[in-house]
Amino acid sequence: MKRIAVLTSGGDAPGMNACVRSIVRSAIYNNLEIYGVMRGYEGLISGDFKKMDARSVSSILTRGGTILKTARCEEFMTAEGRNKAYRSLKKNKIDGLVVIGGNGSFKGAHTLYREHKVNVIGVPGTIDNDVGESDYTIGSSTALNTALHAIDHIRDTVSSMERIYVIEVMGREEAFLAIRVGLAGGAEDVLFPYNTYDIGKMCDDIREGRSKGKISWIIVVAEGAAKAQDVEKVIEENTGYEARSIVLGHVQRGGSPDAFDRILASRMGAASVEGLIKGKTDKMVGIKSDEICFIPLKKASIKDEKKTRLEKELYELTKVLAI
Ligand code: ATP
Repeated sequence: MKRIAVLTSGGDAPGMNACVRSIVRSAIYNNLEIYGVMRGYEGLISGDFKKMDARSVSSILTRGGTILKTARCEEFMTAEGRNKAYRSLKKNKIDGLVVIGGNGSFKGAHTLYREHKVNVIGVPGTIDNDVGESDYTIGSSTALNTALHAIDHIRDTVSSMERIYVIEVMGREEAFLAIRVGLAGGAEDVLFPYNTYDIGKMCDDIREGRSKGKISWIIVVAEGAAKAQDVEKVIEENTGYEARSIVLGHVQRGGSPDAFDRILASRMGAASVEGLIKGKTDKMVGIKSDEICFIPLKKASIKDEKKTRLEKELYELTKVLAI
């Protein structure tokens, strides 16, 4: 192993830069040459590589986003696209590749390994925490805290104006952010995918709550479950009370990574380089009970059942505490 490359793929997540910094400096520390690939799999296909040195990652530890840029790349979903990517890697004499991204990126990385035997290690960088077998992903803690901060601010208005607020949070088809921000923010209810919810029943609860003196409500909606605006409308029509909806949107993706994500990114980045040096491939760096581990990419591409079970438990607790 003489020369490795790193790319960021899928949605950006706070801490991706901290991870790139860790990979670049760990590689140099281990006498490897290191290249950054621009715009994820797009740059792999077009051959957009740039040589990195220790200084090229100065001052990025605290910055959100990714200096390598990221993209969702349709062409990489095709065998021809992956052939081109493989040729770029060969042309640039890259012996190992680190892919920082989410489960989609890992499906791509696994296929690249399967078809071309590329030495590839994944590092989970996604706000959705939707990879298999790893307790956490880089960015999910910061995104959760950012969403919580926003909800705390909204709560001041909710209590003062005696209103019902419906707040939509990111997470694609996942519930990680919605469930946790609901519990941490003291929400009255959370609508999330893979849970059957009954808005009619929710409206009954709101009416009953009002009759018992409960004046303000926060309802968190995962983007994959419903649109906040639609829920707001149903509530107003069914209860006659004034409701407001807010979509937190991309606010949740940006910002400086928190301490947890910086430490996780630094550890996982260094572990990915170490893994490549030791001959590991087709694996994702994960963390379980605060210990670094390596998980087959195929398993890592599918969210594990344990996480879904935990989310349902956290939801039940949210409901108990909302009485
Ligand atoms: P996030 O969780 O932030 O959305 P992600 O990695 O899951 O990140 P995706 O858009 O699902 O984001 O995937 C990123 C890229 O990975 C895609 O644009 C595509 O290039 C590649 N990819 C995804 N799925 C596959 C697949 N089945 N085969 C080959 N490549 C894939």
